[in-house]
Amino acid sequence: MAQDVKSSAEASPRWAMVVDLDRCTGCQACVIACHAENNIPVVGEEQAAYGRWMHWIIIQRYWEGEYPNVKARLMPVMCQQCTQAPCEPVCPVFATYHNPEGLNAQIYNRCIGTRFCGSACPYKVRTFNWFEPEFPAPLTEQLNPDVTVRSRGIMEKCTFCIQRIRRAEMDVKAEGRQLADGQVQPACVQTCPPSALVFGDLNDPNSQASQLARSHRSFRLLDELGTDPAVIYLKGGETNVPG
Ligand code: SF4
Repeated sequence: MAQDVKSSAEASPRWAMVVDLDRCTGCQACVIACHAENNIPVVGEEQAAYGRWMHWIIIQRYWEGEYPNVKARLMPVMCQQCTQAPCEPVCPVFATYHNPEGLNAQIYNRCIGTRFCGSACPYKVRTFNWFEPEFPAPLTEQLNPDVTVRSRGIMEKCTFCIQRIRRAEMDVKAEGRQLADGQVQPACVQTCPPSALVFGDLNDPNSQASQLARSHRSFRLLDELGTDPAVIYLKGGETNVPG
């Protein structure tokens, strides 16, 4: 990964994720890494039967072609960190807002659980805590102290592991350096075996994410809605995917 150092004159980063659909095997290692990093509870078999899941990243499966020439395709979908986010104006208590780095932040202790944001999100990537999350021992030992454990009635979602972004920013500030491309890696990016996920700053034209975003294979989900997402997909190789 390129180690270009950004000039201090550059503006705030625009954090983005590039997802190469040609590389994703659907192994779901990213899903597990996200659970572990962000203290996401496992709802269990009974609640899953009611459609209550708590993943911040889901591997969508869809079919391409007609029987018998059908292929299963896989698409990791997380919060798209939209520039024009439909979830933000509908929150009556401003629990979700846009931060200067282009992320849709969520203030958990302000959320009152109306779920308007979940209804407004066209990507359906927000999850709601229906029950008080339980982490029976020894699972308490693996809770991440950098991330709060959300309680019942709270809407939550992917933050691009903002705790890792903040930690990296503090580290380089203490060392008097600038963040280098690839220095911040959300848990899913760090874990993905075939490196299908690339995280970086779109405001840095030399970042790996920026270069991939300029690929002729790039597209964004439901782009016609005008949400201007920061998650960019690269089409699968043989045929194009919906988008
Ligand atoms: S870890 Fe990588 S390859 Fe596996 S499902 Fe997630 S994005 Fe796809």
